[in-house]
Amino acid sequence: MFVHRVLGVAAALTLSCAVAPAGAATAAQDEQARSGVEKPSVVKTHGPRAHGPESAVLDTVVAHRPSARASFAPYPMTMRSYLRYVGSDVNAFWSAAFSGAGMPYKPARQYALSRRQRVRTACGIGTSADGAFYCRNKVVLSVPWLTRHAYQDSRDFAVAIVVAHEWAHHAQQLDGILAAQRKGQLLSIHVELQADCLAGVWANSVYHRGMLDDGDFEEAVALAQEFQDAPGTPFDDPAAHGTAQQRVEWLLYGYETGSGADCTTW
Ligand SMILES: [Zn+2]
Repeated sequence: MFVHRVLGVAAALTLSCAVAPAGAATAAQDEQARSGVEKPSVVKTHGPRAHGPESAVLDTVVAHRPSARASFAPYPMTMRSYLRYVGSDVNAFWSAAFSGAGMPYKPARQYALSRRQRVRTACGIGTSADGAFYCRNKVVLSVPWLTRHAYQDSRDFAVAIVVAHEWAHHAQQLDGILAAQRKGQLLSIHVELQADCLAGVWANSVYHRGMLDDGDFEEAVALAQEFQDAPGTPFDDPAAHGTAQQRVEWLLYGYETGSGADCTTW
């Protein structure tokens, strides 16, 4: 049943993205032809996916690196105001995508927690020790965690991708993807890799607005590589996010295609 809901939003995401044709092509060949990027293997429920050479993925990133233009952040910001800026941009992106498909959209609430702040969520109390997570209409971000782990060496767009990943979970919530996961129709790894892909779709829109710096997307790729599952994590682990290669491939695929309709990781 969730397939119909996915297709509903899929149409919206395709229409909302500058690089995707209005009539959504569904064949893998068409996807590849228009994006120039081979679709990553889906994660089957009957076994781990096959891996391709990681270097090929990274070569593709470098080959498609956008040229230096305006900076994503329009002026120097504190981490807290930067998180607000990114969250509001991602929220506007999904709002337009959903309304383009005639689907209702309600923004999530975003919380940027300093060391002593807490927020009550449907998944328990969130603190700054939690890094970043999404739960039932709440995007919870830790200012000290993002500063220490994502922003190191001025990686502003790595931080933006974390925010976009959490907001992608909100789009999944509104679309019924998270409900499908609760019913056991999708695994954690499907949902997480789709969120990576949808973060890439948003990054595509940033690129087409001329707001990416040279090297910004590489920051996001490096981050996806750092936050991978421990070696040997089973694909059906209830908290699986994917290997570094899977995460990079799906982030890149969303970035290259700009089409949420193609973020089918299952
Ligand atoms: Zn996630």
